[in-house]
Amino acid sequence: MNFNYASELLQLCKENNLPISEVMIRRELANTDTTREEIIQKMTKSLNIMKSSVKIPLETSIKTMGGLIGGEEKKIFDRFKEGKSLTGSLTTKALAYSLGVLEVNTSMGTIVASPTAGASGVIPGLLLALQEEFNLSDECVLNGLFNASAIGYLLMRNASVSGAEAGCQAEVGSASAMAAAATVEMMGGTPEQCMYAASTALQNLLGLVCDPVAGLVEVPCQSRNGVGATNALICAEMALSGITNIIPLDEMIECMYSVGKTMPSELRETALGGCAKTPSGCKKCSIFK
Ligand code: SF4
Repeated sequence: MNFNYASELLQLCKENNLPISEVMIRRELANTDTTREEIIQKMTKSLNIMKSSVKIPLETSIKTMGGLIGGEEKKIFDRFKEGKSLTGSLTTKALAYSLGVLEVNTSMGTIVASPTAGASGVIPGLLLALQEEFNLSDECVLNGLFNASAIGYLLMRNASVSGAEAGCQAEVGSASAMAAAATVEMMGGTPEQCMYAASTALQNLLGLVCDPVAGLVEVPCQSRNGVGATNALICAEMALSGITNIIPLDEMIECMYSVGKTMPSELRETALGGCAKTPSGCKKCSIFK
């Protein structure tokens, strides 16, 4: 079972009456020398790493490489526990978890690059918040991860997930599209609705530049992971409500890549533009020289 475009993936889902996650598993089986059990085992390992990476900053005080971030997940949780959260428990947890994974990443802890280290908070942030809030099984979350992998594969094959190549829209934007599609499947939506959610997520973050202060994956990367997770949630809600998107995912992926290719090098991970070039950003940069 093979696909190179979202339209082909959707066709396979329709013809075989399968969710995206199952088509992705069968694609792995067709292209690798592994058994279904081994594939599930490998993904379970990733899920366990994700679970631990969202909890570590709540239990331990973390020292990040640049010291520009640290303690954000706990701050959000503390406020949540006081009953003061503005956004409700699902969104607050998705936000807190996604910020926490970036704390672990920048302290050289173990994370799952999904699809990259810089965007590693988006998918676990949202999927694990959903698991808790809706009491979902690990099997359901694993299916979400296989679904996200299929969308990630399309993004990598037909565009890029590299901030250096196509800006933060390719990193956090891609992670958000993957999380949006996964959420739709986990919450019982159709493959078509997954595609709408992914396309809208990418659309919402189109043009986002890559501008890490001092060249560190801390600011604005951490808060953008929170945006990626909450954007995915909103897009999934829209798709599950029956809202479609006039731009199919394949076109949106191509569009994101073409926008990325027009970005000047200053806005593609060189830390020479955007937030990195603000007076305060430059001050932080000089500390590390
Ligand atoms: S700003 Fe750049 S380094 Fe930071 S998350 Fe986005 S793409 Fe990655």
